[in-house]
Amino acid sequence: MTSSSRRAGRWLQRQPTHLRLRWAFSLLIGLLLLVAGLAAARFHEYERAISAFSSGSMQRIRVASEISADVGSVSRQLLTLVTGERDLRVVAYRNIDTAHSRLETNVELLRQAAEASGRRLNPMATALALYRGVYDETVDRIEAGDAAGVRAMMANRTEEALSRLSQLADAQVADEQALAQSLAEEQAQQVRQDMPALALICLVAIVGGGLLARAVRRSISEPLQRTEAVALRLAAGDYSARAQVRGKDEVAGLAATLNTLAEAVAQREAQIRHLAETDSETGLAQRGRFQREVSLQLDETKVYALLCLDLEGLKTINAVLGYEAGDAAIRCVAQRLQAQASPQSCVGRLGGGTFAMLLPLSPGLDLAEQALVQVQHLRTALERPFDWQGQSPDLHLLVGVALHPLHAKGSTELLRCAEQALFEAKRRRSGTELYSDSQAAARLQDLNLASELQLAQERGELVAFLQPKLRVTLGGQECTGAEALIRWQHPERGFISPAEFIPFAERTGRIRSLTQWMLLTVIGLLARPEFEGLRLAVNLSTKDLQDPQFDQHLRRLLLEHGVEPARLTLEITESGLMEPGEDPITLLHRLKSVGVRLAIDDFGTGHSALAYLQRLPVDELKIDRSFVRDVDLEPKRYELLAAIAQLGHTLGLTVTAEGVEREAELLAVRRAGCQLVQGYFTGRPMSVDAFLHWRDKEK
Ligand code: C2E
Ligand code: CA
Ligand code: CA
Repeated sequence: MTSSSRRAGRWLQRQPTHLRLRWAFSLLIGLLLLVAGLAAARFHEYERAISAFSSGSMQRIRVASEISADVGSVSRQLLTLVTGERDLRVVAYRNIDTAHSRLETNVELLRQAAEASGRRLNPMATALALYRGVYDETVDRIEAGDAAGVRAMMANRTEEALSRLSQLADAQVADEQALAQSLAEEQAQQVRQDMPALALICLVAIVGGGLLARAVRRSISEPLQRTEAVALRLAAGDYSARAQVRGKDEVAGLAATLNTLAEAVAQREAQIRHLAETDSETGLAQRGRFQREVSLQLDETKVYALLCLDLEGLKTINAVLGYEAGDAAIRCVAQRLQAQASPQSCVGRLGGGTFAMLLPLSPGLDLAEQALVQVQHLRTALERPFDWQGQSPDLHLLVGVALHPLHAKGSTELLRCAEQALFEAKRRRSGTELYSDSQAAARLQDLNLASELQLAQERGELVAFLQPKLRVTLGGQECTGAEALIRWQHPERGFISPAEFIPFAERTGRIRSLTQWMLLTVIGLLARPEFEGLRLAVNLSTKDLQDPQFDQHLRRLLLEHGVEPARLTLEITESGLMEPGEDPITLLHRLKSVGVRLAIDDFGTGHSALAYLQRLPVDELKIDRSFVRDVDLEPKRYELLAAIAQLGHTLGLTVTAEGVEREAELLAVRRAGCQLVQGYFTGRPMSVDAFLHWRDKEK
């Protein structure tokens, strides 16, 4: 390609698509018109030539042939005149006269034609006149009975005049035929001349059409298809997808707009997520974000200590000085922790008075020793008394330490180890504990839950409690059902919280039989007439989802008890969906096919892309308690809750607020758009009998 055509190509690329299309199609139509015009002109030419031929040459050939035929007929009749009787002669005269008058007419026609075309004067008229003279003389002699004279005349002059006429007529025919042939050749020659030009124009039109189609495809269809693919990726929650922006035309404009949109959505999602994962009390990262930040920071080749720090005196501060003092203590520790953090450290609040910190260590030296020195250093900085309304309560920390990569390589496992060490520090009230494998075993042994949980189920120590769920409207509130929560009443240990044994049951796989027990209990309740019109919810664990027979079993249970599937809701935590394994969308669809309702539990604590939700066949979004707490006190928290509720509505989901503890919170969550509430304020988890009693009172 020459540089000027390249320049033209670039210039064309810069033109708006509609102009490029208009020019290209105009060019194509112009070429087609040219082909059509040339073909029409050629046809017109042929038509003229053919009609000239048929009205001129053909006619003249016919006339000349007639002359030839008449000459022949006259010559035969003349013989009759010479030899025949009088009667026969009369007939012959008549025939000759007719032939003569036709000859006169035809010869005159040829003369006129010759004169019109300006060709040589037709000698046939002269020849005819000559013959007529000879004929008249011959007739005179016949009628005079001069037989010898007649014969002599016939043999010499009459025959000669006639044959001259005949020759001229034949020559005329031959002339005309030659003329027609040369005309035909001339036309054929013309066609041969026109053919390459026409073929060339046709070829140009075809190639032009092909190039145009290719250009349309490359500059419009393909970029549009690519842009569409990017839009689909965006819709699926992949905000890193970007459309290619080439040139300045409308398609490029569309791609650029899509990119701007993607950036805006990604930014908004990042903002929402950041807000959701930032502890509003201290501004520190919450568990999910902390864990992510740690995993970004961790480097296989480097060494770190992960500390879990628990503010030991918090309960006392709360009890003696009130919750505000407790909150102030938490803020104070957070500030002091942050002041100690280097750029390579991460700091987070895991909940309550528990914090976590990742510290880089120096390789080569004794890691445990380094970590313990660092902890000591932190203690000096953090455990100074803090000032609260003239009082100076002491702060005391319990610390669990886990080392990377010695104890664990991944952030989740490392955090688990540090928490285990903290648990040990609490148990021993020892101040600081370094993680060791024996701690985990010791803890399991201490709880000795494995076998006991199995027994508990058989001995009937497990009970299903119900926590009411209420629909809240401006007009009032109405109980729509309840969430079933498991309770373990241990004969020696007393009440054991599900938060303590459910994670354990999940790790050991016992959760499946717990879930089956819970489902059987709850479906049994739904079949009771007192529960008519109510919905009950059961919590599922990831392990249940991975059970391939789960849906069949559930279907059978519902059928056996004659319970309508839509009255049962299955709650699945957002983080549970994120666990590796079979695609959760497939799993949920399988469950959904049973006809039950599905709810996303603890929404907001995981970090699924919001758009991902759109693809899950769920009916309900349960917003985690951490978003509901104090929502009436902080406008930022309120906005966040309202944004999440709005998102739920956009996706057509029922939005439930969990953990509503105060009336002001209830009013705020209702205003924010949550349709259902569940919490200590509207009703604590209670035994089945207590629930039915409570419900009757509510009515
Ligand atoms: P969850 O599913 O988020 O259940 C709600 C938890 O919040 C319950 O704790 C409930 O008592 C508590 N809660 C309700 N309202 C309030 C409130 O206003 N304030 C506060 N602070 N808490 C409130 P619970 O019963 O201790 O259950 C803890 C977790 O254990 C549940 O969280 C659930 O994840 C799990 N769990 C409970 N029962 C089952 C079960 O049968 N199967 C499975 N797989 N998990 C269960
Ligand atoms: Ca739940
Ligand atoms: Ca929940």
